[in-house]
Amino acid sequence: MPLVAAEGIHKSFGDNEVLKGVDLKVKEGEVVAIIGRSGSGKSTLLRIINGLESFDDGILIIDGDRRTGMEKDLRDLRLKVGMVFQQFNLFPHLTAGENVMLAPQQVKKMGKQEVRALAEEMLSRVGLGDKFDAYPDQLSGGQQQRVAIARSLAMQPKVLLCDEITSALDPELVGEVLEVVRKLAEEGMTLIMVTHEMRFAREVGNKLIFMHQGKVHEQGDPKQLFADPSTPELASFIRAID
Ligand code: ADP
Ligand code: MG
Repeated sequence: MPLVAAEGIHKSFGDNEVLKGVDLKVKEGEVVAIIGRSGSGKSTLLRIINGLESFDDGILIIDGDRRTGMEKDLRDLRLKVGMVFQQFNLFPHLTAGENVMLAPQQVKKMGKQEVRALAEEMLSRVGLGDKFDAYPDQLSGGQQQRVAIARSLAMQPKVLLCDEITSALDPELVGEVLEVVRKLAEEGMTLIMVTHEMRFAREVGNKLIFMHQGKVHEQGDPKQLFADPSTPELASFIRAID
């Protein structure tokens, strides 16, 4: 059974039908890269998987929990799904360590010592073991994004969603964030990432999904799809970004 399965997901904002029947299957430990033009529905799909957005039709199953879009109580879901955004959204008045400790303390009611050890471990995992007491404005953008990743990991999600997490970074800081993601992938983390980093998608992804006009237009092995896209839409998308 896949860890994440979406079947026939439809989503409209007013008259604008943004997702027109999306199917998706992600196995445990799989690394899925989602690509596609701006406006094709990539962020909406991730927000639905994370429970930040309702949906109008279809079924979403995450780790055996089945949803039909209108549920109000999404606590269990949010515990299973972590998400990292383009904007890091760290609390500026809290240190890196405090940012990482916040959710485990408040949501999981973990004790002080336990949560501190967890935060230290998660910051080490992203290469920031020495930055526990640093405030966000004392960190580079790449370091801040790594803190944001550590903050998600601290909730021990079953799957981590990444929505263009390197798009707001200066080019020289992109590599350090991608390295962290690569390491998580190697450690077996299930990842669904929307990305413009095509080389990264090709090298690290087990599966590539090309979204076009609110649908999964093409999917398969990344190396295969990049080398030999079977639809003209994916071919022209790849040409445009090369
Ligand atoms: P992508 O991430 O692929 O660029 P999005 O999922 O962000 O695409 O957006 C797809 C479409 O949905 C766009 O036309 C966008 O304007 C619209 N959209 C996204 N979120 C909202 C919202 N909260 N309210 C209204 N329209 C939205
Ligand atoms: Mg987007």
